[in-house]
Amino acid sequence: MKLNRQLFITLLSGAACAAPLILASSNAQAWGDEGHKVVGLIADHYLTADVRAQVDSILATDNSGLTATDIAAEATWADKYRNAHRETAAWHFVDTEISDGDIDAACFGHPTLPANTPASGGVAQDCVVDKVDQFSLELRDPNTTPEERLLALQFLLHFVGDMHQPLHSSDSHDRGGNDEMASASGIAAGKLHAYWDTAFVNKLGTDQNQVASALIAKISSTQIAQWQQQTPRDWSLEAFDLARTDVYGKLPTPDASGKYRLPASYVRNASSVVAMQLSRAGVRLAKILNDALGNGAAATSGAAVLTSPFGGKK
Ligand SMILES: [Zn+2]
Repeated sequence: MKLNRQLFITLLSGAACAAPLILASSNAQAWGDEGHKVVGLIADHYLTADVRAQVDSILATDNSGLTATDIAAEATWADKYRNAHRETAAWHFVDTEISDGDIDAACFGHPTLPANTPASGGVAQDCVVDKVDQFSLELRDPNTTPEERLLALQFLLHFVGDMHQPLHSSDSHDRGGNDEMASASGIAAGKLHAYWDTAFVNKLGTDQNQVASALIAKISSTQIAQWQQQTPRDWSLEAFDLARTDVYGKLPTPDASGKYRLPASYVRNASSVVAMQLSRAGVRLAKILNDALGNGAAATSGAAVLTSPFGGKK
């Protein structure tokens, strides 16, 4: 199914002139633009002043014209970039199968980057977990070229969000929920994947700044300390567990035609799961950026610990 899903996304990415397919394509992006912007805004809140200045100046060099260059807009950049760079389509997810939980198989055995190849030029068959690791290393490396540094930042802003969408860290032989049709009171019928990308995000509000502020207000220092631990692989497996228990585990019995009519309890729970995952993604994205761009200060200066939003865990 991994190959089929990748092929599916590849085909859709190339079908930009067919309106129905454009709609279907957005289903495969993991979080719509709204969710990614919220993640970017939450991350921005937790950046140190120095790192925020670096992030802003790196993003200001983006002349791709695909998005505006503020951090929220740039968090959506990789989805736009994929339209003309279909070799990056598989990097947006990891199809860990619900039936076996084998994340290493879903990551195509973790291919290593070919010699002298930047992460942005890596092999097409790789997963979001590996790409987050690769781009994090590049962002941290002082020898990375300015062009690659920008790409590394743009991909990280997006992929850390993607891996927190449970259906981009799992698959149930249904192309990450793209084969399941759902309906719920007050929400237009659509694919289960799209419900998790956008419909449940929209339940939190339609103004991304307000949604981000509301989520930030609920994030405790204890949660920040917990969330920043472990690795992107662990974060993906955490999202996978949510897919198992909440996305698929709480589905009602389908109707005679195989469609799921989601009760209000499912929608309520899904919205709170989405709120949690957007919050985690933003806090963890900030951690990655602070660590990567906090330039030696974290390692050599006690002062950096005092100013860290992560309470000295750097
Ligand atoms: Zn994506």
